[in-house]
Amino acid sequence: MGNLLANARDQLFVLFEQLDIEKLFEKEKFADFSKEVVLMMQSEAEKLAVNDLLPAYTPGDQEGCTFKDGKVSAPACFHEIFKKYVEAGWLCPTESPDVGGQGLPIVVATACSEFMFAANFPFLMYPGLTHGAARLVEKYGTEEQRNKYMYTMYAGKWTGTMCLTEPGAGSDVGALKTTAKRLPDGKFSITGTKIFISCGDHDLTENIIHPVLARIEGDPPGTAGVSIFLVPKYRANDDGSLGEFNDIRTGNVEHKMGIKGSATCTLNFGDEGKCIGELLGRERQGMRIMFHMMNEARLEVAMQSLGHATAAYEHAVQYAKERIQSVAVWEMKNPDAKAVPIIQHPDIRRKLLWMKSHVEGIRALNCYTSFCMDMATISDTDKERERWQGLVELLIPVCKAYASEKAQLVCSMAIDVYGGYGYCSDYPVEQYFRDCKIASIYEGTNGIQCLDLVGRKLGARKGADVMNLFGEINATITKIKPIEDLKRHGAYLEDAYNALIDLTMHFAQLGKSAGFLLPILNATPYLELFGDVVIGHFLLQAAGIAKEKLNVMYKNKGVEDSKGKQRALIHEDPDVAFYNGKVATAKFFAVEVLSTVKAKCEAIKFGERIPIEMADESFTY
Ligand SMILES: Cc1cc2nc3c(=O)[nH]c(=O)nc-3n(C[C@H](O)[C@H](O)[C@H](O)COP(=O)(O)OP(=O)(O)OC[C@H]3O[C@@H](n4cnc5c(N)ncnc54)[C@H](O)[C@@H]3O)c2cc1C
Repeated sequence: MGNLLANARDQLFVLFEQLDIEKLFEKEKFADFSKEVVLMMQSEAEKLAVNDLLPAYTPGDQEGCTFKDGKVSAPACFHEIFKKYVEAGWLCPTESPDVGGQGLPIVVATACSEFMFAANFPFLMYPGLTHGAARLVEKYGTEEQRNKYMYTMYAGKWTGTMCLTEPGAGSDVGALKTTAKRLPDGKFSITGTKIFISCGDHDLTENIIHPVLARIEGDPPGTAGVSIFLVPKYRANDDGSLGEFNDIRTGNVEHKMGIKGSATCTLNFGDEGKCIGELLGRERQGMRIMFHMMNEARLEVAMQSLGHATAAYEHAVQYAKERIQSVAVWEMKNPDAKAVPIIQHPDIRRKLLWMKSHVEGIRALNCYTSFCMDMATISDTDKERERWQGLVELLIPVCKAYASEKAQLVCSMAIDVYGGYGYCSDYPVEQYFRDCKIASIYEGTNGIQCLDLVGRKLGARKGADVMNLFGEINATITKIKPIEDLKRHGAYLEDAYNALIDLTMHFAQLGKSAGFLLPILNATPYLELFGDVVIGHFLLQAAGIAKEKLNVMYKNKGVEDSKGKQRALIHEDPDVAFYNGKVATAKFFAVEVLSTVKAKCEAIKFGERIPIEMADESFTY
């Protein structure tokens, strides 16, 4: 199926040729899966995305959410697709069939979801948050809570949210003021205001279950005193029917720059003292429980970013092939020359390749991280499981922050490719740009992700996780360097990798001294450099695989000695074009991005601390 959302061929390359996910199917947990099943799932996901979700994307943006008489309505066109999405089994594809899921490997669900993220992200927030909230109940709820809430949520009958943020508690969640007062029956009376709550109120389902962070009266300040509660909009009767209204009032729905179809609400809990919550898990374990969901939620933000970036890229390529403007640069002096499609202009080609390399690199990163999540559950020994889980912990902030930063640039470049038309709502790229911005802000701002990488993840397990990752990058370098055509590009990766290791060691040393402010100050550029090296590794690894495939194909067709005949094959065989594209993309990234890493690492090591040292008064006069 042709679409302008995501490249299905590249997805299959990542899954089967790069990650070799078929080894997952050897394990009992995934024994029912095969390549054929994955192809079928991928095709179903693509169809749903193209035929149902995409047509509601722009209408959902134009209609937005309405707030009238204290009630919130989601865009009308979201109602039908919510039902279809749930019926097709996409609300909880990775959950066990025992609870209504399909037991899919996470990496397969991630790859399939790319189409849907690209087609209509604002809609996807409703089922996405529901899945996250239901998973919390599954993992930490009592049998009674699971029966009361989880099944109904996994079935898409009720939706869910995540209620952390308050006016005075954003990045610093531990500063929250929402309180939980013990009631004689063991439940709690909840009072407080949560802001910016995605899908906090709407009319897609009859009930909404809010996991709410709050402090039990008398518990210590900060994150150590935070507990988590299940707080339904309508109380649930024991037989599963809807009970009384639970005193949660919507104070406002935000008017925002993007994701307008997703209702971002201010919720007032217990204005009349009648809001009842049930403790989830144990007291004062709220942050730990919430953290359990963070990896998945952050990977979803990385997928949102990939979704917008890939759709922006695919649209830009198509537009560049169709838009006729200016003569080709080599015909500039020819008065009879005709204008050409803009894809002929070197600057446009550069932009497109920049976009392509980042999109494909982020696709590989997100899929690899999902694959690590699967391996962390199915590996045979504790040691192996810890190794894979360590890679997940290390890579999650990189997925979230790197993908969301680069996706904004990809979407912005797509607008540039369209010229003035790209800035207008007649074309979808301006919506991608608006919708993708939020990814750098929520689920922990990117600033906080970068601090997480530098302050916690690098040093975790005595640096074992980062050394494991570096070991994989080193293996790619070893494999790539002997390939004549990729030698120089492999050397760029090697230089960048060595410089990153050097900077990482330097940070580790500073962390033990008064110089610890330097890593904190440079956490953001460090994460970007880290991401560049990781993405460069994936792209060059892919190029090595593509080269091997091309060699076999050229040999089979008897053209291994003729560059001209090889080039001709590009127009005849889509696979030859694809693999050549993989090689070109990696080479471009190496020259364009990896070549700059060493200088940037050295500049950070130089130790300049101007932003810290300059007086507040000097920022503006
Ligand atoms: C559309 C939308 C949807 C959202 N959905 C949800 C939701 O469903 N549930 C929910 O609970 N919340 C949600 N949020 C809230 C979101 O997670 C917060 O906005 C975010 O965590 C940042 O908090 P803040 O806005 O208070 O900014 P602040 O915390 O005030 O941060 C402002 C700036 O200061 C920086 N900063 C803060 N502290 C530090 C520090 N220690 N070191 C360095 N820099 C720092 C931040 O990185 C940021 O750049 C949503 C927000 C929006 C806009």
